[in-house]
Amino acid sequence: MKIGIVGAGMVGSAAGYAIALKGTASKIVFVDYNTALARAQAEDIAHAVPFASSSVVMAGDYGDLKGAGVVILAAGVGQKPGESRLELLTRNAEVFRQIIGKVLDAAPDAILLVATNPVDIMTQIATRLSGLPPERVIGSGTILDTARFRHLIGEHLGVSPRSVHAYVLGEHGDSEVLCWSSARAGTLSVKDFAAQMRVPLTEGVKARIDDGVRNAAYTIINGKGATWYGIGAGLERLVRAIARDEQTVLSVSIVTPKVEGVSDVALSIPRIVGGQGVVSDLFPELDDGEHEALGASARLLKTTLDALEY
Ligand code: ADP
Repeated sequence: MKIGIVGAGMVGSAAGYAIALKGTASKIVFVDYNTALARAQAEDIAHAVPFASSSVVMAGDYGDLKGAGVVILAAGVGQKPGESRLELLTRNAEVFRQIIGKVLDAAPDAILLVATNPVDIMTQIATRLSGLPPERVIGSGTILDTARFRHLIGEHLGVSPRSVHAYVLGEHGDSEVLCWSSARAGTLSVKDFAAQMRVPLTEGVKARIDDGVRNAAYTIINGKGATWYGIGAGLERLVRAIARDEQTVLSVSIVTPKVEGVSDVALSIPRIVGGQGVVSDLFPELDDGEHEALGASARLLKTTLDALEY
């Protein structure tokens, strides 16, 4: 499958690098209004390919996205000093207004994967601007938060994260909800698993894991200014689920008709992802506190969206 990546900055290039190394796409095309950057990223990544796969990596214009099955939208602008979150959002909405029409002119059948932050709002904007059905405009959402959650639970319980099934729901951001009540390891609830393995799973441990998931990005940003490898790998995982029509459960963001009484809001819940994009939503069982927290997250996103003119 041919993949387009619009926005060849840190996130777009990390995604392209992961896709190239794993050979997930036959062809990867970088597009950026900074054409020198797109060319440089494509060339640098192309030099890694002989060690790993046979993907073809190039830079091009929007016309070169023709035939792409997936286009990752990783273009965006950074926050200016003193700029509010809403002003930044308005400028990023403008970036999407400039690019989405051109992407769809060249690749009308592409599934759009949104990586630009704040990803839930940008997914909602991309859905509206593209006119595509929500299942074809997918935000990376909490895919990475979910990976961190599974990793920390697995580490604590002494089991591979692959055997941990636990999801982070809602906004990719401060209001996200770690869904403990339905978290499982193997066939057991994490509580029963911990008891059988004689590993304490106290409120203190849960709070530490919660903090580790919620604040991982801040720690990384303090150390290196931004995050890109984790989300790059998450985007590769998402592209793979689509390219191979996997029907895999991933926590991703799409505009969802109804969440805790809030209508038409983009946020993450576990969903089945395959060749047509999101195939089904899987609403997890939640306890009262989680229902409340997911509702609060949905309302927060909706309020931000309502304040935004685009
Ligand atoms: P991130 O860390 O989120 O990847 P970067 O600033 O590194 O952020 O990358 C964002 C990229 O998006 C930059 O390379 C920038 O040139 C690109 N970009 C911004 N606006 C547009 C636009 N209108 N069209 C195409 N590319 C854009």
